[in-house]
Amino acid sequence: MPSLPEPIQNLTIAFERLPGIGPKTASRLTFFLLRAPDEISSQLAEGLLALKSTTALCQNCFNITLINQNLCEICSNPKRDDSSICVVEEPLDVFALEKTGAYKGRYHVLHGVLSPIEGINPDHLKIKPLLERVKLGNVKEVILATNPSMEGDATALYLQGQLTRLGVRVTRLARGLPVGGDLEYADQNTLLRALTGRQEME
Ligand SMILES: [Zn+2]
Repeated sequence: MPSLPEPIQNLTIAFERLPGIGPKTASRLTFFLLRAPDEISSQLAEGLLALKSTTALCQNCFNITLINQNLCEICSNPKRDDSSICVVEEPLDVFALEKTGAYKGRYHVLHGVLSPIEGINPDHLKIKPLLERVKLGNVKEVILATNPSMEGDATALYLQGQLTRLGVRVTRLARGLPVGGDLEYADQNTLLRALTGRQEME
């Protein structure tokens, strides 16, 4: 049986590595691009290259920022409240919370959650820099806004242990977010309720 030409195979394999894309969708996308106007593939190719080469992580909170900026928009805004840090799993969660318009403090992005099964321990996440930020002394409250999943809860519990030692108030987003659901997919009102109804972790 003749096999597909290598460029087609290569792109299909690349698509398959993306989350939520199985072999069928991967080959459908590849053949779509083969037939589609050149403009569509070049826009995609340029976007992919620029994604990594023009973005960087904020050196303070690890949110996404542009490559020539040390600090993200939120960290460099003097009007934000330094006494509060909201800890989230991913940069998308920052944007979800920002959409509520209710939070005026700072953020810290962990870039994942603790997961012993996947071998992800505290050293793999941006936990140390968080503790360093709190140690500077301006922070009064840390809001743990990891997802309401098993890993999200375990991560919050771990952070609570580390943070209370530093004498800071530790709160957790209120229940009401769908369990196992992602913060980034929660609607604005649910997120707003979870934020305003946040509770002390004991
Ligand atoms: Zn930042």
